[in-house]
Amino acid sequence: MLNFNDSISILAKIPKRFLPKLKNLGIETIGDLLYHFPFRYDDFSLNKKIVEIISGETVTITGKISKIKNIRSWKKRMSITEAFIEDGTGEIKAVWFNNPLPLRFLGEGKYVRLSGKISADKKGTLYFQHPNFELINKAVFEKEETIISIPETKNLSTGILAPIYPETQGITSYWFRRIIRETLDEVQLIDFIPKDILESQKLEGLAKSLEKIHFPQKISNSEEARRRFAFEKIFLIQIKALQIKKNWENEKAIKIKFKEKEIKDFVLSLPFELTSAQKKSAWQIIKDLEKNQPMNRLLEGDVGSGKTVVAAMACFSVALNQKQSAILAPTEVLAIQHHQGIQKFFENYPKIKTAILTASQCKINDEEVSRKTLLEKLASNKISILIGTHAILRDEIKFDKLGLVIIDEQHRFGVKQRSFLQKQTLEISDGSRKTIPHLLTMTATPIPRTLSLAIFGNLDLSIINEYPKGKKKIITKVILPNEREQVYDFIKKEIQSGRQVFVICPLVEESSKISEVKSATEEYKNLQEKVFPEFRIGLLHGKMKPKEKNLIMSDFKEKKYDILVSTSVIEVGIDIPNATVMLIEGAERFGLAQLHQFRGRVGRGKDQSYCFLFTSQNIQGSTSRLRSMEKTNDGFKIAEADLKLRGPGQFLGTLQSGLPDVTMESLSDMKLIQSARIEAQRILDFDPEFKKLPLLKEEVEKLEGRIHFE
Ligand code: ADP
Ligand code: MG
Repeated sequence: MLNFNDSISILAKIPKRFLPKLKNLGIETIGDLLYHFPFRYDDFSLNKKIVEIISGETVTITGKISKIKNIRSWKKRMSITEAFIEDGTGEIKAVWFNNPLPLRFLGEGKYVRLSGKISADKKGTLYFQHPNFELINKAVFEKEETIISIPETKNLSTGILAPIYPETQGITSYWFRRIIRETLDEVQLIDFIPKDILESQKLEGLAKSLEKIHFPQKISNSEEARRRFAFEKIFLIQIKALQIKKNWENEKAIKIKFKEKEIKDFVLSLPFELTSAQKKSAWQIIKDLEKNQPMNRLLEGDVGSGKTVVAAMACFSVALNQKQSAILAPTEVLAIQHHQGIQKFFENYPKIKTAILTASQCKINDEEVSRKTLLEKLASNKISILIGTHAILRDEIKFDKLGLVIIDEQHRFGVKQRSFLQKQTLEISDGSRKTIPHLLTMTATPIPRTLSLAIFGNLDLSIINEYPKGKKKIITKVILPNEREQVYDFIKKEIQSGRQVFVICPLVEESSKISEVKSATEEYKNLQEKVFPEFRIGLLHGKMKPKEKNLIMSDFKEKKYDILVSTSVIEVGIDIPNATVMLIEGAERFGLAQLHQFRGRVGRGKDQSYCFLFTSQNIQGSTSRLRSMEKTNDGFKIAEADLKLRGPGQFLGTLQSGLPDVTMESLSDMKLIQSARIEAQRILDFDPEFKKLPLLKEEVEKLEGRIHFE
């Protein structure tokens, strides 16, 4: 008997040279192999007699080979194999090009089952175009009826819904079918999901589900199985998330007392009135800070919704309690921006010192200081707020009383950095007090609600879903190829009156960084030489070193360029109030949520801003999809729409690599996610140690290495 956790190297059928390739597909154990699911099926379930078949159909027939021969076509440099098959009702020809296998395995007088597409030649004669074939014996042939819905023999490529797998060089779907079929028949399967949960969720057990996802008899069977596997993963994620939440709640934090009068005065001192969403979020945060459990909250709000001031209020509350705050930004440019912005909020509060520490900056308020001075003041609680990149997460950087850590755009940190960051967060405040700082993460990516619940189930959520009053709507227009010149003229006028422009170039081919760089470089040349020779143009792309990127961004901010041509790497959250035009080339290639992110780069100043969505082709569907951008500026609405249109991948960043497709597909299924959460909570309430559920415990632990949690 094989076991789920056994290495696949014990399977004699797997050649050694396949092992590294399989590893690349994430397959190392028997369990991995069985969880390598097909992404579609070739439907060969339509069984017919030869006399019944018609052109264009995909069918399965059985018959006896009356003739088989090989023809070499020198002109076309091709080897063609032709076979004739008869079944008593008629005869049909099957043709294969450059495929040695039919000749090797088939022969006159043998019985065969063929599945494939039927074509008609010039004269109208029907034939099979490179069908799949499997040898059968005479008895099977004679027993087979016209329509057989359940093939008795274990067919792998004919007569069934043939699973198509993610493949890799030399490892085909057929190979996967064979190895998975054999493994399924020999493996010992024990379901780690408790029976009562399966029953209450109307899901099938592991063995049945694996059978149905690999070798379904009907498409609906495979869908049932996919639901089970989707539930399974989300259930595990929820258990893990709730465990983390509970552990987090068991930690101790310093209570940050809410000083009502001071906070109210601070709010009154601001140059604007807070929106009600800002007030609500700030209130939730201040309430969290009052507990002696550390906060773990995600503050979500569109670009420009005003998260910074909410963060500043939290820092202020902490400072009023003589504690310190750290703010981490993903890049130096953003750290500097935060430092300037936050400092401004505390203009009337000379006691609140705001420092910045990055590779090139070391300042307390506006004053440049030595690193030594800064560290000394930090360690003696003379600095209330330290802003920096992850470079401030170093052992030698010691706070005196760190009460709050704020992470901006945390999804931009790599998995490694994030776990380091978490560890550091804990260590910074280790020592005698045995408390950990409160944690607030901020993101400008509006994440659909189902997704937040599914993936960030351990976090509390605050959402800023409105813009400050008076913020001008960004005028958005879809631009067809023939309207290009007009827009260029408009842009000229904008630049002549002192404004700046972003031009975003698309991926040429999915996941190809090189061509992305190429397209931006070419567009840069084109604009410089032909369209806007009179203006200063900068170029930014992902192949540049972080230092180069930062330099170009800050040059653009200082108006050294009129136009910045960029690939999609352009910073989230960068604040360039003077930029009023966002031009996106090949807009139809981007998801709506991403377009919305780009659009958020403008509209930061007082002036009316514009977003032009250039389409390279006027495809009906894509244009109407883009038109929805003209109608709304609401990031959450766009995110929900995009989740339906393009799936969850785009929202997840580094997380998605750990999630199988079946899970991804179901991340918009609120009911499934909620019931998974309820069942997970029930388990943790009744058997938190998993005494009765050791297998489940093991699965939850396995998850840890694969999916990163906040
Ligand atoms: P983001 O959520 O993208 O980080 P910011 O915090 O940078 O947004 O805020 C964007 C701009 O709006 C800043 O200039 C900020 O001072 C301003 N702002 C924030 N809140 C309000 C408000 N309630 N009324 C008017 N302006 C505001
Ligand atoms: Mg921001």
